[in-house]
Amino acid sequence: MISLRTTARGTLALALALLVTLLVGKAAAGSKQPPNTIVFPVLGPTVYIDDFGQPRPGGPHQGIDILAPKRALALAAEPGKVKFWTHSAGAGCMLYLYGASGTNYYYIHLNNDLTNGNDNRGKCVAGTAYARGLKTGAKVSAGQVVGYVGDSGDANGIHPHLHFELHPNGGHAVDPYQSLQTGQHLLFAAPRGTPVTLELRGTVVSTTTDGLRLKVGPVAAFPLGQRQPKLGRKLLIEVPTSATIQTVKKWGAPGTPAALVDAQPGQPVDLWTTAAPATMKAERGDDMALNASLVSLLVR
Ligand SMILES: [Zn+2]
Repeated sequence: MISLRTTARGTLALALALLVTLLVGKAAAGSKQPPNTIVFPVLGPTVYIDDFGQPRPGGPHQGIDILAPKRALALAAEPGKVKFWTHSAGAGCMLYLYGASGTNYYYIHLNNDLTNGNDNRGKCVAGTAYARGLKTGAKVSAGQVVGYVGDSGDANGIHPHLHFELHPNGGHAVDPYQSLQTGQHLLFAAPRGTPVTLELRGTVVSTTTDGLRLKVGPVAAFPLGQRQPKLGRKLLIEVPTSATIQTVKKWGAPGTPAALVDAQPGQPVDLWTTAAPATMKAERGDDMALNASLVSLLVR
């Protein structure tokens, strides 16, 4: 009796072990999950809620509507290949991103206007809906500009937004909310290697021997012409000994030479970075990835 029970238990344990092996093996073999962190698919200020699955005229909502200013830059969530899709009355100007991870992303309602009004005179072409110079079938890097936010298709006349869908392993749509919540918001978007200078306005948080941590408000990227009114993030910028540090009585006024130790927490600061080739680290604003060339501390 005892030996029988033991055998039965042994069989059960073996079956369980086999099942676990199968499941883990399947997950590993498939392993086409979205990346842990995607690039947030819009540059600049956005508003969105978790409206995935909400009832809509055509059925449950298959994505999340990310409200953004008209022609805000739509960015590649991960590296991959793009395909333009211009034949859907509902989606309007649409772009598929076939991500390297196996996840597909849908970018829907891209811009179809030629003016700042809602003229609908633009076609679903590069320069209007899709990034200037981008071609269907092109490979893109993570964070690359792929299109412009708009109101094409059945979003016509309502607030410009990006309807963003996430299709793991090329399958059905899943809720992208968590991916968006943990997405990396970029400071700017530029082709790798392009020389870029940033102007960061904000307040001093703290200093190290060779770095300045600041809470950033407005960001401007030159010569890209990209501006974000309020980043709302803390960044740690390297301040090399070659950087000019000064105090000013008002922005743009002649400065008085100063040192990094003069920077006080809460003090308004205007920081220009050294022109440097665009990298993913710089676009994300990773710690010490950007170098200061001019630091102006406001004294009242
Ligand atoms: Zn939508």
